[in-house]
Amino acid sequence: MKRILITGAAGFLGSHLCDRFHGEGFHVIAMDNLITGDIRNIEHLFSEERFEFYHHDISKFVHVPGKLDYILHFASPASPIDYLKIPIQTLKVGSLGTHNLLGLARVKSSRILVASTSEVYGDPTVHPQTEEYRGNVNPVGPRGVYDEAKRFQEAITMAYHTYHGLETRIARIFNTYGPRMRLNDGRVLPAFIGQALRGEDLTVFGDGSQTRSFCYMDDLIEGIYRLLMSDCADPVNIGNPDEISILDFAQEILKLTGASQQIIFKELPTDDPLQRQPDIGLAKKILNWSPKIDRAEGLKRTYAYFQSLSEEELYKKEHNDFEKYKS
Ligand code: UDP
Repeated sequence: MKRILITGAAGFLGSHLCDRFHGEGFHVIAMDNLITGDIRNIEHLFSEERFEFYHHDISKFVHVPGKLDYILHFASPASPIDYLKIPIQTLKVGSLGTHNLLGLARVKSSRILVASTSEVYGDPTVHPQTEEYRGNVNPVGPRGVYDEAKRFQEAITMAYHTYHGLETRIARIFNTYGPRMRLNDGRVLPAFIGQALRGEDLTVFGDGSQTRSFCYMDDLIEGIYRLLMSDCADPVNIGNPDEISILDFAQEILKLTGASQQIIFKELPTDDPLQRQPDIGLAKKILNWSPKIDRAEGLKRTYAYFQSLSEEELYKKEHNDFEKYKS
């Protein structure tokens, strides 16, 4: 039986990866320090035989007994609000945490896939972004802690591949959404859905002309699965190229939720990328992968998920106070 370690396992993507690999018959070893992750996302797996959970911070030495065939490194705060709250931990998990996992992968002869991000392109001057584009990142801006940690992560992962012959994979993940997102991490989709559910106005930052391209999580998970099983050590963009302005996106959410609120405009955050769209030519070619779920369908499913939560569950999605970890 194949054994896989998934870090950030209680997070939005990590928990869906646990489900996918468990469903594929893997023995899943889930790890999370639960700062931004939510144990409820994986609670349903606790009674399963092929599932175990370690409450651990991977910035510290990581030990896993037994053989390990694969490692998926998905531990990191992943929203601007989160990494502004815990900038040092964000830097540490992308750098020290990645180093620890690469060391573990070496000892265990595991194949490791690291979750990188479109943020390595910063505020891009090339559009859409291809893997060759080297980015436009402000290292000392508010997003620098995330962007530079992820750039370092790619560098050290490639170094382990080149110098130690480790089997490595690098996924550059673009904006992704779906069930289990937290409602209070400041990301645009949960922000808008949370506002619609609470009957508040939708807050568009700037004039809303900045663009993003949103990928539904099922498509993303399939892309990650295929990349892990491929033989490509170079970074690969995984995302949905269907680009939309944030203002149009807000209007789509209002239409979907039938909410009668207004759109209000707030200041554009520093270094907020003006445009973002993945070029997925490489993923199409080498993984035979492209997204299948369009935004209308993905948003419908996501909204249905949030609507299905009880008041208590919704409250918990909105209140995840990790201020106490701020050290
Ligand atoms: N945004 C917005 N209103 C919100 C939250 C976000 O207009 O309440 C904008 C944000 O300024 C950015 C885009 O939505 O231009 C996507 O933001 P998000 O934090 O989801 O991710 P990013 O792609 O910027 O990392």
